[in-house]
Amino acid sequence: MLRLTSRFIILIRENTMLRLICSGLLSLIATLAVAATPKLDPSIDYHSQANPHEVLTTHLTLDLSVSFKKQELSGSVIFDFERKADKVSELVLDTRDLTIVAASARVDGKWQKTGFKLEAPHTALGAALRVALPAKADQIKVQYRTSPKASGLQWLTPEQTAGKKLPFLFTQAQAIHARSFIPLQDTPQVRTTYDAILRTPKNLRAVMSAENTPNADKTGEYRFHMPQAIPSYLIALAVGDLEFKAMGARTGVYAEASILDAAVAEFADTEAMLEITEKVYGPYSWGRYDLLILPPSFPFGGMENPRLSFITPTVIAGDKSLVSLIAHELAHSWSGNTVTNATWRDLWLNEGHTTYLTYRIMELIYGQKRFNMESVLGYQDLQGDIAELPAPYQLLAIDLRDKDPDDGFSNVPYEKGALLLTEIETKIGRAAFDAYLKQYFADFAFSSLSTEAWLAYVDTHLVAKHPEQLSMQRLEQWIYQAGIPEGAPAPKSNAFSDIDQVRTQWLSGSLKSSDIKAAGWTVHEWLYFLNNLPAQLTEAQMLDLDTQFKLTGTGNNEIAHSWLLIAINNNYQPAYSRLENYLIQIGRRKLITPLYKALVATPSGKVFAQRVYTSARPGYHPLAQGTMDAIVNP
Ligand SMILES: [Zn+2]
Repeated sequence: MLRLTSRFIILIRENTMLRLICSGLLSLIATLAVAATPKLDPSIDYHSQANPHEVLTTHLTLDLSVSFKKQELSGSVIFDFERKADKVSELVLDTRDLTIVAASARVDGKWQKTGFKLEAPHTALGAALRVALPAKADQIKVQYRTSPKASGLQWLTPEQTAGKKLPFLFTQAQAIHARSFIPLQDTPQVRTTYDAILRTPKNLRAVMSAENTPNADKTGEYRFHMPQAIPSYLIALAVGDLEFKAMGARTGVYAEASILDAAVAEFADTEAMLEITEKVYGPYSWGRYDLLILPPSFPFGGMENPRLSFITPTVIAGDKSLVSLIAHELAHSWSGNTVTNATWRDLWLNEGHTTYLTYRIMELIYGQKRFNMESVLGYQDLQGDIAELPAPYQLLAIDLRDKDPDDGFSNVPYEKGALLLTEIETKIGRAAFDAYLKQYFADFAFSSLSTEAWLAYVDTHLVAKHPEQLSMQRLEQWIYQAGIPEGAPAPKSNAFSDIDQVRTQWLSGSLKSSDIKAAGWTVHEWLYFLNNLPAQLTEAQMLDLDTQFKLTGTGNNEIAHSWLLIAINNNYQPAYSRLENYLIQIGRRKLITPLYKALVATPSGKVFAQRVYTSARPGYHPLAQGTMDAIVNP
């Protein structure tokens, strides 16, 4: 609403005639607009109602029972805290859809009941929980239970798992979903250590973003300790028919038995990635680095839960072609988990640095050709988003007040953020930039920073040292303006130039599909070939590609995604049965959202989308359901 107003003013301002005529009216509108737009304070987390500036929680002790039957976690959380202000009378926690059973305070070593009030829920933020804090209390305990509709939990039936025999539960706390399964100060500005007991059905294993015991007996009672302080969005748990296999000294995989070996083979380079990243950017702070392979309904590629990244099985391709996802989640161990964004407006600090590191790790492990190809594909993804997103969503420091912070996730914080860092690297040289990054990760370890704090640091540590190459004005343009700044580095790949040639020749008819030497193409070459085809192909061209290269039947989920998108845009019916299966089996938002969007663009596609979505929806995560509901049944 306010954005529309200010844009409206700019439009009027561009018209000099009109400006002369209505200058009085204009200044009135401008004054009103300024008065109605509260100035954004970068130090405030607008997505939390908690009061850490008064009482700062420092440690959580969780004791939770897992009921698949009720789709409910129930139990208690105890808070250790520090008082930050005089005469504090309450601890304010974030919650969403929680039932609060009781609250108590420990005074002189004894627990006593204490008052609490659950406020009316705010649409984007949930309900603030106010717990009375007696003057001499040193711990607070809250007993609670979750709702089956908790946005941060997904309860899977046995049919939705790989093994089909036992149920599965996993959490996804980023950005502000931890509050749907624990009442807590749900802001990345607060870091806590934690201990936990999870009580589960006896035949299942529980794991957490903490120290895990890989081969613990399945007793139905699992204990966890997380010695490093982490922000709330990194608290994670999963319960399922899980087994463990080591990959290296510090790395291993938790997965259902039927996919364990495939996952171990696919991600075998994880230990090497860990070692090489430490060499360039400093020591790994978290002890072990294990992977948890989730069922295909996991709505993301991966989630960087510390010590235990959560990973989609859709990247198990059999040829390590999609393992940049592992490099990405691992890189978060430095950028994101160790150095954390202060608020969700600063998400680009987490994701931009991590995406930059991902490219670098991939280059170190797999060489420059792959680095170039992945950079170009990332750049094209960014260009696609810049073409589609409204200007305010193209800023690195994005104003998400009154919005769900999940709205800030696009290629902008990832790829535009990484491109900004690539520009700095290009200007001052790789060695200087690597040394800077290593220092940055050390200086801000286990703390959070805002975009403005980052700018101040860069001013001192980079701009002052390289005044000929860098300027604050240029950095501010990257951060506070829409689009990709002119003169930004544009990634290039020789391998892709060859693909461009082949594509052009095939389209013109001068090269037959049977003469395309695609046997040696990597997945990246395929993606580049497909993603850059014209929007409209003839029925004969579609059939030609499909017959020659068996694209409808491809086992690679990324290639299938690109091909199915083309099939929808060209109403290529032979692919629709695969499309239906794909949409029902996979719940990863990045892969399915564009397909649903393309389908609903035509009346017949919309009918198909609505029919398939009815079957697919129960298997999707609540977050994916929210996204697809808005597209398929707006
Ligand atoms: Zn990430």
